[in-house]
Amino acid sequence: MGKVLIIGAGGVGNVVAKKCAMNTEIFSEIMLASRTVSKCEAIAKEFGGNRIQTAKVDADNVAEMVQLINKFKPDLVLNVALPYQDLPIMDACLEAGVNYLDTANYEPKDVAKFEYSWQWAYQERFKAKGIMALLGCGFDPGVTGVFTAYAKKHHFDEMHYLDIVDCNAGSHGKAFATNFNPEINIREITQKGKYWENGKWIEIDAMSIHQPVAYPNIGDKESYLLYHEELESLVKNYPTLKRARFWMTFGQEYLTHLRVLENVGMTRIDPVLFEGKQIVPLQFLKAVLPEPSSLGENYSGETSIGCMIKGVKDGQDKTYFVWNNCSHKASYQEVQAQAISYTTGVPAMIGAAMMMTKTWNKAGVYNVEEFNPDPFMDMLNKHGLPWNEKTNLKLPFEYPVEKVLA
Ligand code: NDP
Repeated sequence: MGKVLIIGAGGVGNVVAKKCAMNTEIFSEIMLASRTVSKCEAIAKEFGGNRIQTAKVDADNVAEMVQLINKFKPDLVLNVALPYQDLPIMDACLEAGVNYLDTANYEPKDVAKFEYSWQWAYQERFKAKGIMALLGCGFDPGVTGVFTAYAKKHHFDEMHYLDIVDCNAGSHGKAFATNFNPEINIREITQKGKYWENGKWIEIDAMSIHQPVAYPNIGDKESYLLYHEELESLVKNYPTLKRARFWMTFGQEYLTHLRVLENVGMTRIDPVLFEGKQIVPLQFLKAVLPEPSSLGENYSGETSIGCMIKGVKDGQDKTYFVWNNCSHKASYQEVQAQAISYTTGVPAMIGAAMMMTKTWNKAGVYNVEEFNPDPFMDMLNKHGLPWNEKTNLKLPFEYPVEKVLA
């Protein structure tokens, strides 16, 4: 039993707070704090029973965060604000001596660049303080890392090729909307693509490599090669990987809107002068797009996210696919959220449970694949994200012709 302080009351914060509140065995007290306290209060009221306490906090302000931590005295701070807040919240956890978890790696506001270096740099300080930070514990990153660790533990002696495939085959009825924070989402998909091959990163123009992938229960969907942050830790933790890539589906309508917005300058992240005031076009665009948390009610269809892996077991070539499908409608019925928020919030709750029960317990800064995947996989099945697996199937990708073992 323990106390959790959740920071951020957006689409994901809504799911994490409610899923922690449902899990009475592990989370004795829950506080949801964010910049706009009315959003916390609305979530707490919707859940009911005074189970979720609320507070206002500016997480960019370390002193304010430390004050809140010292007042509530949580065992863990669960960060589902924006990636910009990762470092100030980690600083506050260090100062107060409390464990930390997040779902997305740090990004500076003025450069569209995400990498783990900034957060991995906290390793020695977290160790010295005897506290733990678990990085990237949503679905992707998050479950995709746990899936990969599970594949290695139970199915492979060596993994050689990893393709993470992410499909949202849902429909929310809006002409254009993003499924999580629009600013973060558009920064991610408009930057250059990148994948790992033969020991180095290969950079490509955004959206320039794509192919159809058949998703379970959905069928063929055009999938685009993107850079995604879990690739960085996975190639580090599984050095036998010869190639690691990430694919995501986009509809034509979405891509057309995005191209137009890019062409007219609305996705720029540098400030421009507008009526005597500096504004960032992408932040303005976020203000006029639908809130991701508002998309749930009429969302139909499902998501399908998984890992397709080729490697070797007992001297034989082997292929393996592990995945979860999640229904937008079922997510909405359970916690009034669409499936993207749901598939992020549930793993964040499970990661918190792993830390709270000391099932995953190591001072320092870690990614999810560095721990035993089995108890996490168990909880996915029990808390709304059941997974499936298949071995020795034909995967939709081409592999270099090679003799894997002599
Ligand atoms: P939202 O924009 O819906 O919510 C973000 C919340 O953080 C808002 O409530 C916002 O407050 C709050 N916030 C922003 N800045 C501050 C601050 N300085 N202090 C306190 N609170 C602040 O985003 P999502 O819920 O969609 O995403 C949350 C996180 O989850 C993001 O980091 C995103 O990258 C990550 N994510 C991870 C995924 C994964 O699979 N790993 C998938 C999807 C998302 P306000 O209401 O005032 O704006």
